Amino acid sequence: ILWKTTMSKKVPITVAEGDGIGPEIMLNTLLLLKEAGADLEIEKIEIGEKVYLGGNTSGIEKSSWESLRRTKVFLKSPITTPQGGGYKSLNVTIRKSLGLYANVRPCVSYYPYIKTNFPGMNVIIIRENEEDLYAGIEHRQTNDVYQCLKLISRPGSEKLIKFAFDYADNYKRKKISCFTKDNIMKMTDGIFHKIFDELGQEYPNLEKKHMIIDIGSAKLAKSPCDFDVIVAPNLYGDIISDIAAEVSGSVGLAGSANYGDHCSMFEAIHGSAPDISGKNIANPSGLIQSAIMMLAHINQSEVAQLINNAWLKTIEDGIHTNDIYNPETSTQLVGTNEFTSAVIKRLGQKPEIFNGTIYQRFTSKSNTIKKARIQEKELVGVDVFFDWKGNNPNILAEILQDIGNKNLQLKMITNRGVKVWPDGFPETFCVDHWRARFVSIHPEKSINHLEVIQLLSQIENKNLDFIKIENLYTFDGEKGYSLGQGE
Ligand code: NAD
Repeated sequence: ILWKTTMSKKVPITVAEGDGIGPEIMLNTLLLLKEAGADLEIEKIEIGEKVYLGGNTSGIEKSSWESLRRTKVFLKSPITTPQGGGYKSLNVTIRKSLGLYANVRPCVSYYPYIKTNFPGMNVIIIRENEEDLYAGIEHRQTNDVYQCLKLISRPGSEKLIKFAFDYADNYKRKKISCFTKDNIMKMTDGIFHKIFDELGQEYPNLEKKHMIIDIGSAKLAKSPCDFDVIVAPNLYGDIISDIAAEVSGSVGLAGSANYGDHCSMFEAIHGSAPDISGKNIANPSGLIQSAIMMLAHINQSEVAQLINNAWLKTIEDGIHTNDIYNPETSTQLVGTNEFTSAVIKRLGQKPEIFNGTIYQRFTSKSNTIKKARIQEKELVGVDVFFDWKGNNPNILAEILQDIGNKNLQLKMITNRGVKVWPDGFPETFCVDHWRARFVSIHPEKSINHLEVIQLLSQIENKNLDFIKIENLYTFDGEKGYSLGQGE
């Protein structure tokens, strides 16, 4: 066994055929990989609809995890998530469980063969994959209010942003833009932006720009050719990568890669398209492009280049599936199998117009990031959130002012973040979700957990329904919490 492992060039990969059009596009992609000479040892696993409907709400069996952790490389077809509650997103689970922190999506225009308003567009979106609102920590706290927790960590952001800079640098890109909304979310998006500025100093050759996500997305939709590499937190990255893929004219053609320090996953960006499944009309190009990224990642760049050239030549020759067929530029309307055969026939040929640059493997040096110093953390107060059905904050304040202790006193009450006491406005619309901020009355003196517990027990004695607390900390004396709007 040892001899075999050492001598064989074959790289083990895990493959999932998925649902809907998944099996047909995977069959075609694997055939193309074989014909091109990819050296792979394929382990197949079952994921998705069948597994979900078999009663496994995660959509993946334990044995499949074993395969993924053994091969560390996953080529995945789209899956169908059954309708109705209770099913967790398999993609999010796989990305997070395997530590695939960087999602890379090249959005490239294939003008004039595929219609787009932006010939020459070539944007790479690098999206954080594990954190942000996708932590999936949601709670219904009152009758009327639902909460989703947005978590952004310094090391998580550092790893991803370092990856994005290394990626841009490695592929000789000129410019990297960071999109956040840190004019509003000064702490979560603020740390992402700050790390972009900090790490950016190590890349003098790259032009760096930060944009607020709203205007950034607008500019990306209107003039995508002004962008090169974009790095963004999870939710924004998810949205802008679809915008970018769509305006490139090729949402059905784009592949994507998810990279981590140990494993990687490659998949098309489209879904399982159940409406066209089993009809031999699906375009296998998104999965083929993902497979090309995979081959580059496992050091089989020559095969990747061979396939990419043949694929580009097929597109240039006007041999198109129904989704991209256009009588003005297409010469032949083909099905899934015929398209793949056309690519196989062109293995060894080169495209005439397109430049089929292959994104070869590179390693991000995230382990070179210096660990941030641990700052001195002090507890200086507590926000207590209430489910309270009253509508006059002055009444709630009267009850709460009555409690507290010699160190902790009520400072303000907000409703959905807006200060409503003291000096609130009667015009402010309030729901049944209130926050009372208690702070240490001696600014230089911190409080302790016992005082918080005493406060909560006093609140309990007043028969108030507290739904959660958030401790207020300072870090080296700097506030680790935001002020209320209007505070
Ligand atoms: P979809 O991408 O499957 O389909 C949208 C439209 O694009 C459909 O009209 C479809 O026919 C067409 N289309 C998609 N891929 C195509 C291809 N390769 N060739 C030709 N036409 C193609 O999106 P949807 O309809 O919103 O989702 C269908 C299912 O896919 C849902 O269950 C969804 O949860 C799932 N989904 C899975 C993934 C994934 O596994 N990565 C991603 C997105 C959606």
